[in-house]
Amino acid sequence: MIQKLFKGGLVADGTGSALARVDVAIKDGQIVDVGNLDVSADEVIDITNLILAPGFIDIHTHSDLTLLSNPLAQSKIRQGITTEVIGNCGFGVAPNPVGEASDLLRAAVAYLDLDPEIKWDWTDLAGYLKVLEKSGTSVNVATLVGHIPIHASVVGFGKDPATPQEIKKMQELLRENMSAGAFGFSTGLNYSPVSYASQEELIGLATVVKEFDGIFACHMREYGDDLMKSMNELLSITRATGVRTQISHLVTFGKRNWGSVSRALELLDQANQDGFEVDADVYPYIAGNCPLTQLLPYWAQEGGDTVMRDRMKDKSARPKIISHWIESEVIWSNIQIANVIPGREDLIGRKISDIAESLSIEPDILALDLLGDMGNALGIIAFGRAESDVKSVYAHPRSIVGSDGQSLDPNGVTGSGSPHPRSYGCYPRLLSGYTGTPGISIERAIHISTQAAANKLRIKDRGTIKIGNKADLVAFNPLEIRDLATYEQPQQFPIGIPHVIVNGEFAIRDGLHTEKLTGEIIRF
Ligand SMILES: [Zn+2]
Repeated sequence: MIQKLFKGGLVADGTGSALARVDVAIKDGQIVDVGNLDVSADEVIDITNLILAPGFIDIHTHSDLTLLSNPLAQSKIRQGITTEVIGNCGFGVAPNPVGEASDLLRAAVAYLDLDPEIKWDWTDLAGYLKVLEKSGTSVNVATLVGHIPIHASVVGFGKDPATPQEIKKMQELLRENMSAGAFGFSTGLNYSPVSYASQEELIGLATVVKEFDGIFACHMREYGDDLMKSMNELLSITRATGVRTQISHLVTFGKRNWGSVSRALELLDQANQDGFEVDADVYPYIAGNCPLTQLLPYWAQEGGDTVMRDRMKDKSARPKIISHWIESEVIWSNIQIANVIPGREDLIGRKISDIAESLSIEPDILALDLLGDMGNALGIIAFGRAESDVKSVYAHPRSIVGSDGQSLDPNGVTGSGSPHPRSYGCYPRLLSGYTGTPGISIERAIHISTQAAANKLRIKDRGTIKIGNKADLVAFNPLEIRDLATYEQPQQFPIGIPHVIVNGEFAIRDGLHTEKLTGEIIRF
């Protein structure tokens, strides 16, 4: 007997084909029939006026820790996201070295770490996944292994390049953790300490990823003046190893660089023409989100969080950092505080320039003081992208949607700060505001949110509405779907998405969370 029959809606099957008015039947967590179905079912769900699509696969997220505090995955599931890929940008929580090194690792990923109650009582990815599985989640979770925990476990937080023996050790550690079912590896080449990784180290690790046929996801070194240089650095690793490559959040930063994303896409095209597999993810916003430490020159980030914070107070270091900021044209009125340490909540949601003005100090001085106090826990939202660049990436055939956000719950511990609205609104924003632009039809917007991500990850049984696939589905009203999260009021769920089904069960029904932990860990 069919358990659930979705009737009367338009189906976008995820492949990019035109919408079709067909019914979809599910049973035991799977799609068992698609067509004009005249069958009886335990439950018939009338979805007239709605579009039924595969659940969105968010290929780029940072919910590694927040899912443990927020198993209901509130801000993600309500967007129609049914699978999250965690462990991006080199950040990760496993392997977790023992003792002081673990504290240093935790400090290095502080801007993702919103709940001090979470005990890091795992030592490797298999252990972490067990903890997550035990806690349960409403979304499915797939993971990458982050470069920072691998590098920090073997080399530490200094700037000296790894020795050949250390590279070998990192390769072993990566192999071990990939074996727990990771879909690939991620690096973040402007984050300390992996910003100090040599080309030998990167190629050595990419070689291991290639052995597993996983993806090599890269937050590149620079997205502003040196975008082309950064693309060439990444593609040289792709070309040397043949590793399947995912460029993280491809856009251009800084007004003087707007438009150069088209040249980056030409390099991506060239690599694909030469037989390599290179794709890019992107989220539909003109601001990014990172720790403020990302604006520091590399030398100033060396040594781990405490050493770095002490350096911010060092009178000889401060003028050098300020000249770096002047040279790179940092605009403090474009930088808004997202997350702080307890006790500094008065700063949340404010621009650095405004805070400086109210205190009658120079914004550069204020920024150094704040970094000295909060280090990597100081999260910012940085404006500086052009919408036309974002749209040209979306129009490119190799683009995939990735929110770069976190599963957050406005009513829980993860509801602190003033997060980037992408954590609440990425997919509805794409499906409302960005459709209708040339090259971005609703069918294509759904395709790059579903099958394109599944294909990249080699997930065979999700991402399309097809008989035999897992029943991960989202039903939304194309006229009503809309993101409500803004930079000023980010903690707002989208509207127009009445149903979200994960593994055949309702996670969202009639717009309400069923509070069921419908997700599972997906292993490669
Ligand atoms: Zn990221």
